[in-house]
Amino acid sequence: MKYLLFACLLLISPLYSQSAQDELVNVKEFIHDIVLDLKYNTEDNFLSQKCYTTDECYLSRALLERVILIQDSLRNITIHDGISYPQGLALKIWDGYRPRAVQYLMWELVGPPWVANPASGSRHNRGEAADVTLVDRASGEELEMPTYFDEFTPAAAHGYMNLPANVIANRELLKNMMVQVGGLNLYDAEWWHYTLPIGYPLLDFQMK
Ligand SMILES: [Zn+2]
Repeated sequence: MKYLLFACLLLISPLYSQSAQDELVNVKEFIHDIVLDLKYNTEDNFLSQKCYTTDECYLSRALLERVILIQDSLRNITIHDGISYPQGLALKIWDGYRPRAVQYLMWELVGPPWVANPASGSRHNRGEAADVTLVDRASGEELEMPTYFDEFTPAAAHGYMNLPANVIANRELLKNMMVQVGGLNLYDAEWWHYTLPIGYPLLDFQMK
């Protein structure tokens, strides 16, 4: 009986952790020094309209755990590309979990190839994608990157090299942190978009 119970626990525990990993969590509750600038909660986005009703950013627990690792490493980077950052660097998040209603709005206004079809859903609708950049942890000032957020041009691609050396160095640092420290996947066309390598089901969580 004891062995049977042990065998059952072995079967149950991975299933349990799987469901805990795709639960959405509020980023600010776990990473106090992360900078949030949810562009879809403002009119400063490619839709020119406010789509969110909150400044709170949610990610799946699995993605949050990786973002914690990345943020911890960034705090220790006090010199990058010859510039001193006495308090280190930090992440700024522009978008995380995105309700599907907003995905439908984006699809109606812009459509493919920039917006994922809401029928199948974006990785953002699953809480497993984050749009990020780097900031100076002391001032909150953004490091210079190839384009602005959601600027859908060839310059947003990782392979675009017609840029000043410092901008390429900043983009590479972000990529190395997200991919090598966080184990996340990049998206070739958008230097700011990173995703978990595994897929979770679509979520329908309303942000308040
Ligand atoms: Zn994105």
